[in-house]
This record gives sequence, C-alpha cells and structure tokens, in this order.
Amino acid sequence: MTTHAPQVAQTAPTVSLPVTLDEAVAALAAMPAAVPVAGGTDLMAAVNAGLLRPAALVGLGRISEIRGWQYLDGHALLGAGLTHARIGRPDFAALIPALAAAARAAGPPQIRNAGTLGGNIATSAPTGDTLPVLAALEATLIIAGPDGARREMPVSHLLAGMDMLRGGELIGYVRVPLLHAPQVFLKATGRTGPGRALVSVALVLDPARRGVRCAVGAVAPMPLRPLEAEQWIASLIDWDGGRTVVPEALAAFGEYVAAACIPDPAPAEDGSPQQLPPGVLHLRRTVAALARRALGRALS
Ligand SMILES: Cc1cc2nc3c(=O)[nH]c(=O)nc-3n(C[C@H](O)[C@H](O)[C@H](O)COP(=O)(O)OP(=O)(O)OC[C@H]3O[C@@H](n4cnc5c(N)ncnc54)[C@H](O)[C@@H]3O)c2cc1C
Repeated sequence: MTTHAPQVAQTAPTVSLPVTLDEAVAALAAMPAAVPVAGGTDLMAAVNAGLLRPAALVGLGRISEIRGWQYLDGHALLGAGLTHARIGRPDFAALIPALAAAARAAGPPQIRNAGTLGGNIATSAPTGDTLPVLAALEATLIIAGPDGARREMPVSHLLAGMDMLRGGELIGYVRVPLLHAPQVFLKATGRTGPGRALVSVALVLDPARRGVRCAVGAVAPMPLRPLEAEQWIASLIDWDGGRTVVPEALAAFGEYVAAACIPDPAPAEDGSPQQLPPGVLHLRRTVAALARRALGRALS
C-alpha cells in the first residue's frame, strides 16, 4: 500500500438557503465559489459524474417569490423557480399552452417535480424542452444582480452566448407575451416513451401581428428560428377568416423549415450535388414532419 496517494478533503459544501432573490444574490456575492442550485436535477447529475465539486451551494428552493407567476401589461412574469410539474398543470396550460406542453415532456415525473424553468434556461442544453418555446415566444429574462439591480435580456441572447449571466447574477423571472392564440410544442425522442429530444418544434400564432413564429430545438446548440419560412407562411394565412392555408402549404412549410435548419451540403469541387449523411437526412425529415404537424394543429 502506498502512502503517497493524495489526501483530498471530502468536505461537504457549505449550503445557504436564502428566502428572497436579493438574499440569494447577496449570498453568491459573499461566497464567490458558491453555485446556485434550484431543483438540482442537472447540477447533481454533474456532481455525480465528477464534473463539478462546488465548495458552496446557494439553494433557491425557499424563494417563494420565484415559484409562481403574475400578470404584467399583457405579459406573464414567470418565476424562475416554477417547476416543470407546475407549468404542466391545466391552469398554466390555458395561459401558455406550448410552454405547458414542453414542461410535460421534460423528463420523467420525479425530474419534472424538481426541475425548474430557470435551471432549464441556465443549463441551456440543446435538448432543453422549454427553450424552443421561449425562443418562439421571444421571451425575455429578468436578471437579478447585486444591490437589488435588475436587467432584462432576450432569452435568445443568453442561448446564443451574445450575453451571459455575470458572476453573482441569477435568473429571477421570465417575461412571456400572452398571445391568446393557438400554440404547439412537439418533440421526437427517437425512441418509445420519454427521453431527451432528438428534434423539438415550437410554433406560436401571433394574430395581433399577423405572425407565425417557430423555433426548432435539439438540432443545434441553440433553438433555430426559420425566419423566412415564418414570414412566407404568415403571408399565406387568411388572418381575417378561418386562419386556414391550403394543405400543400403545410407540407411546403415543413420542408422550408427543415431546409433552413439543416441546409443542403455545398456542392463538391466539380460542382456535383452532395447528399446529406443518412442520420442527418433523418433529422431533417423529422424537423419537416414536426413543423408541418405543428402548423396544422395550430391552424386546425
Ligand atoms: C433523468 C433526467 C432526465 C431529464 N430529461 C429532460 C428532458 O426530457 N427535457 C429537458 O428539458 N430536461 C431534462 N432534464 C434536465 C433537467 O431536469 C432540466 O434542465 C431542469 O429544468 C433543470 O432544472 P433544475 O432546477 O433541476 O436545475 P439545477 O440542476 O438546480 O441547476 C442547473 C444549472 O442552472 C443553474 N441555475 C439554476 N437556477 C438558476 C437561476 N434561477 N439563475 C441562474 N442559474 C440557475 C445552476 O447553477 C446550474 O448550473 C433531465 C434531467 C435528468 C436528470
């Protein structure tokens, strides 16, 4: 037996349990090595995999102000601590149906009972189910910083890395417009039963702006918005009548979205067309099928 093996102290992390958002921000400022933890479903997976060993934790689970929602100027202000289970309930589904559908698809029940909206956003995994919905809704984040400071940024800026959470900041709320129109979230897992998304599609109608907004998740590091396809289909919808389009337009929309998210490969040097690899082609067909179905459901 060697006596030279390093002796790593396995001390338990210091845990702080603030009850307000500003106390949580202050706790992070007081312990710069501390990591915030909400439901712990992503964080503890990283700890268990040996990827992370936080010296201190700031638990967000007792902050009641971020565990509900309120109405504000045609928007809903969603607390970052809302769990997927709560978001999936019928009263919330009546408010923001696509977000409720995404939350219901976000893992098995024990994960949805603990996992939160804020954790899903902060982790920013390509397979995060709420992320395409928030991108399609053009939601914004309200970030809490030191000394009661609040700043707002589009969710898409965080997901694209155009803006970051600064040290000691927390996601406090998510501001989502209430569109009072059909919206759909669909997810393909590539297997039977629940699982991480292979492809997800969120589609919302915005009748006031005569707009269709769509975001595709899981095929890229962040949700993708096929803006030209959105504008094209919006121009074909009979907004003053029954909000219908011809069936061929549904299929063409699916193809348009899929080609925007997974483009054809560049031609070879001799100019001959290149094929997508079979796995990527399957992904593209799945995007097309989900986008077509999502639009069909939203307009039905
Ligand atoms: C078995 C399993 C299945 C899963 N399936 C799915 C799935 O199908 N779909 C899906 O989308 N996700 C899935 N997840 C991932 C996970 O459950 C979600 O991402 C969940 O929303 C994370 O929330 P949390 O509260 O548990 O985050 P935590 O684990 O508590 O935190 C995650 C990260 O976010 C940070 N954080 C948390 N809250 C805040 C805040 N308010 N401000 C700033 N930073 C914050 C933490 O510091 C940490 O870095 C799965 C996880 C597991 C273990």
